[in-house]
Amino acid sequence: DIIITTHDVTKVYQLGAEQVHALRGISLDVRRGEYLSILGPSGSGKSTFFNMVGGLDRPSAGSVSVDGCNLQELNQKQLAWIRCHKMGYIFQSFNLIQTMTAVENVALPRIFAGESPAKARAAAAEILDLVGLGHRLTHLPAQVSGGQQQRIAIARALVNRPGIVLADEPTGNLDLHTGEEIIQLLADMKKQLGITVITATHDMKMLSASDTVVWIKDGRADRIARKGEFEVAI
Ligand code: ADP
Ligand code: ADP
Repeated sequence: DIIITTHDVTKVYQLGAEQVHALRGISLDVRRGEYLSILGPSGSGKSTFFNMVGGLDRPSAGSVSVDGCNLQELNQKQLAWIRCHKMGYIFQSFNLIQTMTAVENVALPRIFAGESPAKARAAAAEILDLVGLGHRLTHLPAQVSGGQQQRIAIARALVNRPGIVLADEPTGNLDLHTGEEIIQLLADMKKQLGITVITATHDMKMLSASDTVVWIKDGRADRIARKGEFEVAI
């Protein structure tokens, strides 16, 4: 059962007179419920690919399908609907609103989706509890650790119950031990909620939970390995 298909995804950025070929044709199937890691050095095209798969930017050529729906054929409103309901996003720098408490940050996507503040808050509290932060509901981001801030961001990504969670370098601002805890949390959420997880990372130590690893090199999928195959390579 395939949830995401990318077909020959290409991205060329125009930087003044220069063209930057960030992606040179990536074709990939992501299975429903799998944990897929995109691995590659800085500048290899991970974030660009992440943005294409997440519907945050459009490819120069090629296509991305989510649940059988070709993102290129959607208008802005439909794409916004998919981003809100089908995808959750996690970033290296957490991207929390500093003036809002944990529960207020996590409630936001539900409020954007049209739910009442009271109901959104209740759903947010429930998911914060699930990620181990039930005791930090009314703390501000600056009042908790980096690992806890990323847990808040994970709760925010999950609060609309998306089928897919995309995490771009989720451990990039964390120490090794905290990073491993965050990867473990994503793996637990995958298992408990049945979601598909896609992470981009440059760090081979963050692959332990992966079912599939895709090496990106110079904008190409250089190699794809399933669980049982990549452990020997790393
Ligand atoms: P990674 O996430 O692996 O570090 P990126 O996807 O950010 O790689 O970048 C891939 C290539 O595309 C790099 O050469 C980068 O400089 C270039 N690039 C990324 N974003 C832009 C942009 N908005 N404009 C121009 N070039 C970009
Ligand atoms: P409206 O408020 O215009 O009646 P909705 O809020 O239901 O529409 O949806 C907003 C947009 O998202 C519409 O363009 C609709 O076609 C699209 N949309 C709604 N449900 C889905 C879905 N399951 N998959 C893809 N697009 C959807």
